[in-house]
Amino acid sequence: MAAVNLLDFDLAGLTAFCESLGEKRFRATQLFRWVHQHGVSDCAQMSDLAKSFRDRLSTTCEVRVPALLSEQASADGTIKWLFDVGGGDAIETVFIPEDDRGTLCVSSQAGCAVGCRFCSTGHQGFSRNLRTAEIVAQLWFAEHHLRRRLQLPEGVRAITNVVMMGMGEPLQNYAALLPALRVMLDDHAYGLSRRRVTVSTSGVVPMIDRLRDDCPVALAVSLHAPHDALRDDLVPLNRKYPLAELLAACERYLAAAPRDFITFEYCMLDGVNDSLAHAAQLVDLVQGRGARAEPLPCKFNLIPFNPFPASGLVCSPRERVKAFAAVLQDAGIVTTIRKTRGDDIDAACGQLAGEVQDRTRVAERRSGRAAIPIIPADVPPVRAPAQQVLERPAR
Ligand code: SAH
Ligand code: SF4
Repeated sequence: MAAVNLLDFDLAGLTAFCESLGEKRFRATQLFRWVHQHGVSDCAQMSDLAKSFRDRLSTTCEVRVPALLSEQASADGTIKWLFDVGGGDAIETVFIPEDDRGTLCVSSQAGCAVGCRFCSTGHQGFSRNLRTAEIVAQLWFAEHHLRRRLQLPEGVRAITNVVMMGMGEPLQNYAALLPALRVMLDDHAYGLSRRRVTVSTSGVVPMIDRLRDDCPVALAVSLHAPHDALRDDLVPLNRKYPLAELLAACERYLAAAPRDFITFEYCMLDGVNDSLAHAAQLVDLVQGRGARAEPLPCKFNLIPFNPFPASGLVCSPRERVKAFAAVLQDAGIVTTIRKTRGDDIDAACGQLAGEVQDRTRVAERRSGRAAIPIIPADVPPVRAPAQQVLERPAR
């Protein structure tokens, strides 16, 4: 029987597991801290646990992280890790350092079933849901690897923000996502505030409601079109959950959200969704002049499309993106244009698993045809994110 993976549990799950081993509940908290706060994977080293418990743990459990296939570092400090999750599937995790934060972009599925036209993960198709442990392992690995590599002092964390914007649709893997979010938020683990953990969704309406009830973190909704006809084409899930339903779910979410707005992501596609008329329609959509009665508190994040060969799509010219943003801003909507990070290593939004055969067919990669060395010698030094103290309150 495969050993139990300690990364599969939130604290409640670990408590139940410890109790099943005949241990007191508080032992679970100690164990949880060893694993997530100290990054210790060898139970024998967990010095404040009774020797008999350590021995029991060593024979029944482990901290199992998917094998690292490659690491690539961008000139801008972004790092992309490729992990082998078995069965020929690989997933990607991206670290994006900025002056005041270190953001980890985490995958939730191998592939994605939604199949958005502009997304390379979507073109790849769906392989399988990740387990909780495989989601949490991305954070566990990144946090402790970077702490060592950047030689961060005790109490300083490498990852200050998590965005569920890697491969996959997180709300189509809700059962595994929920405990993973709880681990991210738990003060005995990573202690991230709800505002610093973002779930990005293409609009799985019932699950937006579930997330609001179970674990309301910051919500980003990938909109990409101001009306159903266009969105049906770009984001096929829209045929199931059209815009009016999606915006109503956003409204309901706000009642529990840690931020008082929803972030809408909008990928700028030349000649497809980027005209000034589209921008005006978006304003009407969110400000209640269309189907909605009330304006929806929201911000827009315009994402320059990151091209990949199979899409047949092109990014909007810079001037058009700016003009589009101006229409939204003139209507009083806070609008940002996302800075593209890591595009030299295909780590930018929607480029993950860009080349289906190379990225997901691990066997082929291993055969050397498209191999990337693990931790190549010429990796430029990682710029440390500004140091952030573990207990710092959320802003
Ligand atoms: N499935 C979720 C989260 C992963 S995608 C979702 O769709 O929200 C993360 C973000 O990257 C989404 O906003 C998505 O629309 C965007 N994206 C996907 N492909 C892209 C591309 N080729 N260029 C720019 N952004 C892209
Ligand atoms: Fe899936 Fe998101 Fe890509 Fe759409 S944009 S295919 S939902 S990962």
